[in-house]
Amino acid sequence: MTGATNIKRIAIFGSTGSIGTQALQVIAANLDKFSVEILTAQNNDELLVQQALQFKPNIVVIGDERKYQKVKEALASTETKVFVGEQSLEEVASMDCYDLMVAAIVGFAGLRPTLRAIETKKIVALANKETLVVAGDIIMAKAVEHRVPIIPVDSEHSAIFQCLVGEARNRIEKIVLTASGGPFLGKKPNFLVNVKRDHALQHPNWAMGAKITIDSATLMNKGLEMIEAKWLFNLQPEQVQVVIHPQSIIHSMVVFEDGSMKAQMGLPDMKLPIQYALSYPQRIASKFPRYDFKKPNTLTFEEPDVKTFRNLTLATNALYKGGNLPCVLNAANEIAVFAFLRNRLGFMDMTDLVERTMDKMPFIEKPTVEEYFESDGEARTFAASLIHM
Ligand code: NAD
Ligand code: MG
Repeated sequence: MTGATNIKRIAIFGSTGSIGTQALQVIAANLDKFSVEILTAQNNDELLVQQALQFKPNIVVIGDERKYQKVKEALASTETKVFVGEQSLEEVASMDCYDLMVAAIVGFAGLRPTLRAIETKKIVALANKETLVVAGDIIMAKAVEHRVPIIPVDSEHSAIFQCLVGEARNRIEKIVLTASGGPFLGKKPNFLVNVKRDHALQHPNWAMGAKITIDSATLMNKGLEMIEAKWLFNLQPEQVQVVIHPQSIIHSMVVFEDGSMKAQMGLPDMKLPIQYALSYPQRIASKFPRYDFKKPNTLTFEEPDVKTFRNLTLATNALYKGGNLPCVLNAANEIAVFAFLRNRLGFMDMTDLVERTMDKMPFIEKPTVEEYFESDGEARTFAASLIHM
């Protein structure tokens, strides 16, 4: 934080996405508390330019090199510096012009810049769960080494994080991750084989980026979140439970060793966990809609159907076995979702692709960072070879 003014300087990696744009909405409502220093986008140059003109950051990064000239020209009359390409993300993440990174890039691509942020002692508000799924041991060890807080943005993990405030010395018996169940809750394989992209992209409770929306429909999202939770809260695999809660009002729970349960509740709106991560340890006022107990409403809970949604079983295996297996699972899943979104792979085939890739890749018990990158690359190549493109 910059001493006298108490303004937190924010870098949003992935500012044009669902999380990135909502983070900017939170900042826009609290300009006395936050300033925007860095914005990055992969393809959407028009939105990036519009955001830069509004928030006047120090730096923007456009990933796609073909868009560089356009962005540069559009911002020529401003003081915003324009960087380009994947390498720049790491370079910019290392700079000292900001205090907190909102890690909102989707997928494995978010790992390297997030590592750089930690190594240069920035607070990380982490939306990019894939980073922890791939290399959670290394990320958390580096965070401890550099004394950097990793504050979860994912709603379930934000809920647990909030339940744990004031409980530092108390043992957790287990955590209960709630899952909406997605658009195909209650459906069976004979229905799911015919599911197409557009149907799977319609989530009942949350509007999110394409990848996580598909992950929510296949329940891979909850699988990734189990692994994310293990690293964030230093848990054993047996301490992580998933329960289906279709209304998405309880965002997750912690059970303590005396049997007491704490839950964090609210309407499903990502702006709340984003704002909490930005303002932590304080809470700041918001005008987000409130849950109304006067309206009839029922909260329900049920066991996930792991026979139909086998991704949850695959992710549980990866959670228990550890090593490079979660990294392999994540890589194969990114390929599978990418192919499904292009109508090149069926809904149920995504799970088969992940399973076959997990079976095939050599297991590494304690990978180095480089070995994680290699496992990711090999798993992607193998998974892609199984798809007839
Ligand atoms: P999104 O697809 O809407 O946005 C992704 C952002 O990352 C965009 O700004 C895009 O330009 C950038 N990006 C994409 N590929 C990139 C690459 N190869 N290199 C650099 N930048 C790249 O995604 P989202 O829904 O905002 O999700 C972002 C992350 O947050 C994901 O890891 C997701 O799992 C997590 N998350 C999202 C939500 C949500 O409500 N959207 C909730 C919880 C967690
Ligand atoms: Mg979540």
